Amino acid sequence: MMSEFNRVHHHNISEFPKNFDVKSVNEDLNVCNKCGIIVIWDTEMYWKGEEDLETNKILGDHTAVCDDCFSKLKKGVNNG
Ligand SMILES: [Zn+2]
Repeated sequence: MMSEFNRVHHHNISEFPKNFDVKSVNEDLNVCNKCGIIVIWDTEMYWKGEEDLETNKILGDHTAVCDDCFSKLKKGVNNG
């Protein structure tokens, strides 16, 4: 039987109703600003922060993105 957590984790926010709140399932979940995948904010996302200028530069206009999007953005930054 799938838990509520697994029903949401690694799925895309677009699969859920418009006002769906991932925090109602689990406080550790958050949504990638770029692709909409639902991941664990602590271990599966990169966040904009004041102490890491390199990360901030890569994130650009995004506040928080998943690992996949971060590596794509990083390649874009390095290529540009
Ligand atoms: Zn993403």
